[in-house]
Amino acid sequence: MFPLPNAQWPVMSPGAVWLCGAGPGDPGLLTLHALNALRQADVVVYDALVSQQILDWAPQAELEYAGKRGGKPSAQQEDITDRLVVLARQGKRVLRLKGGDPFVFGRGGEEARVLIAAGIATRIIPGITAGIGGLAYAGIPVTHREVNQAVTFVTGHDASGETPISVDWTAIAQGSQMIVVYMGMKHVGQIAAKLIAAGRSPDEPAAVVVSATTPQQRVLDTTLGTMEADIAASGLEPPAILCIGEGVRLRHGLDWQALAVGLSPALRPAMAAS
Ligand code: SAH
Repeated sequence: MFPLPNAQWPVMSPGAVWLCGAGPGDPGLLTLHALNALRQADVVVYDALVSQQILDWAPQAELEYAGKRGGKPSAQQEDITDRLVVLARQGKRVLRLKGGDPFVFGRGGEEARVLIAAGIATRIIPGITAGIGGLAYAGIPVTHREVNQAVTFVTGHDASGETPISVDWTAIAQGSQMIVVYMGMKHVGQIAAKLIAAGRSPDEPAAVVVSATTPQQRVLDTTLGTMEADIAASGLEPPAILCIGEGVRLRHGLDWQALAVGLSPALRPAMAAS
């Protein structure tokens, strides 16, 4: 199946659930374990951010959409998990496919706990998370030796839909040179204000990476102080990763997608300035 003749590819048993990350969008960022699962599954239960091209790799499987469509997220999450248990108990080979990495802001841990407690054979397949792979597609390394020694991945809203009160934005502002915010679009104004109040400069570079790694990828270069207004003016919509820190400047020299299509001249002055 793959050009790795000696590899022992795991076999999906009837009644098993494999909880798998699909990466941030580009099908090429899928793992080989994910592809192996797509080829074997009877049912693929997938989330909103999983691309059709990836699902096309499971032509034999039934596809069930489990994306969030507003309403009550927690009740819906229980429905999804219950559905996985039902399908497994019917003896199906179940692939639960989630965007990015299943254990990064994806509630994969919650699903896995229920499956394991129900005695269902469960396998976890990690994926490339949007906050790392998506930023790499925008030319932003999440760490860079001379720039930052720490990076924080944080969610911009919690289960209630509000800015998470449990997040200590002051500690993050003071302790992490690079801050990567998932689900941050709705509360970007509040988040920026909290970081500035905690001592971060409004002039600090920031980037908003929308639909990262897909053909619809857009990157907004902005600053901490102006990001809310710039996002509003741009009309950009989620899914987006917000990224704040001096490391964002590296993008001016590392935006390999722009360079590949000959857009480097526009970026050269910024590169020289840094
Ligand atoms: N488990 C996923 C995250 C799920 S939370 C992962 O590891 O990537 C959903 C959030 O992830 C979105 O609101 C957005 O902030 C981010 N996200 C996921 N895919 C993205 C993409 N292709 N481009 C930009 N942001 C993305």
